[in-house]
Amino acid sequence: MTQPISIAIAGVGKIARDQHVPTIAADPNFRLAATLSRHNALDGVPAFTSLADLHRALPDLQAIAICTPPRGRLELVREAIALGLDVMLEKPPAASLSEAEALVAAAAASGSVLHITWHSREAAAVEPARAWLAGRAIRRVAIDWKEDVRVWHPGQEWIWEPGIGVFDPGINALSVVTRLLPGALLLDRARLRFPANKAAPIAADLSLRSDDGAPVAVAFDFDQRGPQSWDIVIETDRGTLALGEGASKMAVDGAPVAVPDVPEYARLYQRFAELVAARESDTDLSPFRLVADAFLLGERETVGAFDWNG
Ligand code: NAP
Repeated sequence: MTQPISIAIAGVGKIARDQHVPTIAADPNFRLAATLSRHNALDGVPAFTSLADLHRALPDLQAIAICTPPRGRLELVREAIALGLDVMLEKPPAASLSEAEALVAAAAASGSVLHITWHSREAAAVEPARAWLAGRAIRRVAIDWKEDVRVWHPGQEWIWEPGIGVFDPGINALSVVTRLLPGALLLDRARLRFPANKAAPIAADLSLRSDDGAPVAVAFDFDQRGPQSWDIVIETDRGTLALGEGASKMAVDGAPVAVPDVPEYARLYQRFAELVAARESDTDLSPFRLVADAFLLGERETVGAFDWNG
């Protein structure tokens, strides 16, 4: 039996606690060695506020899972790589496309493995859907990705700083659709809605087209009360595929299709372990590039002020 990969978590916040900590605990390939966080810590896990101190105390550390907000990732990735660590990066990979490309280049020039993760690509129905779509002609695609920021990012002011706003969840849908559709996706039009009191969009509508010309209509909303929607519908020449609940459920022409019941983050860590073993990086930036395109081409509209308690 090989030794588990000794890993630290950087940024002890919602996603670290909800997914990374329990997934690492359940995966024999990994051992949580430490946390790196300015204020937060986990019971019973050595806690540090600087990576240099962490590395001095635990020189055998092999990897780090970066779960901080996107701004400031490049410095952290560079520091981790300089210490010879393999790096798993939460989505979105960085605050800007240039920064994302710089961290990919830094990893490529080093001996470290970089896994730019897209957790929604690991949703249970994505690979079965990809197999079903193979050989079918895609006619049109509709994406509805609508959730309540108050539930999923409670009190997180960083989400409203200049940045991608509603694309923080929306990029999950883009990560799925860029995996499902062969070839490049191109953005034709975008409309971004900014709350009067915030610097990032709360909603967006995008019109894209697939490589072979099929229209892809996208609606993102961060102010969705009641039931949340994470739906993708793909009409083809031979049937309609519907992915629901963040691509964890699949139906064809209205009939449910059984898919394996493996949680996203379990598959994500399995993939990271494979990359570490093979000394390979996975650095696909295509979902992030589409977000950047939406800001390059998007028309902007100001809507009502956002209120966390509203
Ligand atoms: P969060 O709850 O705010 O946690 C992030 C943690 O990073 C904070 O607790 C903070 O801990 C640390 N941090 C370092 N620099 C920071 C800064 N400048 N501003 C704020 N916090 C900073 O955020 P999260 O929801 O876990 O999201 C983190 C990343 O995971 C994002 O990229 C997000 O897109 C992704 N993600 C989130 C979810 C979700 O459901 N929320 C789902 C999937 C992926 P210290 O103060 O102790 O340093």
